[in-house]
Amino acid sequence: MKKNKVLVIEDEEDIQNLLLLNLESAGYKVLVTDNGYDGLNIARGEFPDLIILDLMLPHMDGLEVCRRLKSDAKLRNIKVMMVTAKGEEVDRIVGFELGADDYVLKPFSIRELLLRVKAIIRRDSEEADNKKVWKHEGLEFDFAAMQFRLDGKNISLTATELKLLAEFIQNQGKVLSREYLLNNVWGYEFEGYSRTVDTHIRRLRVKLGKYSDMIHTSRGLGYKFEPDA
Ligand code: CA
Repeated sequence: MKKNKVLVIEDEEDIQNLLLLNLESAGYKVLVTDNGYDGLNIARGEFPDLIILDLMLPHMDGLEVCRRLKSDAKLRNIKVMMVTAKGEEVDRIVGFELGADDYVLKPFSIRELLLRVKAIIRRDSEEADNKKVWKHEGLEFDFAAMQFRLDGKNISLTATELKLLAEFIQNQGKVLSREYLLNNVWGYEFEGYSRTVDTHIRRLRVKLGKYSDMIHTSRGLGYKFEPDA
């Protein structure tokens, strides 16, 4: 099973270590940095499920980091938990003016924080289930609307390309033969025209841009969609 990823942006070493140790032993993949600039870069490269964000950071404070995250089409779906010791900022955070999804006050109980982390991540995956939207890094596939977004922008795919991509997303990690794709995407026997599949895959890859590598060719067998590879 894929580990959920948590990014910790915290400049106090003790708290950093406390979070790192506890989150790792709770089964999360943990990334850590002590400043907002690196935090934003890591978020862009790693797309964590949740960011635990300290309010008081040197150079760029947590509110600014949160504002930048939530105004970036690629990053705004990442959940943010603010950590603050400053009572007066709570209203702004709680008001979700900046789009934070939750907050904890320092000093916090690590047990309570872990429960909240779990709840946020579960809620996030439930929301995705309910909306039937598949998300991975900058990719979003809305099964209800049959719409595909890349880095926040709607990408125009043909009906066949949409069906192909949907088939891949629903069968991640499995090699799908050309025959299988012809039957399930085109919907009828299309004997002898398996090159049709190759042509459409080629076009789909172009539209996936920097994510085109997610569709692997398994020589002689077919194609495999591997978003984590
Ligand atoms: Ca701090």
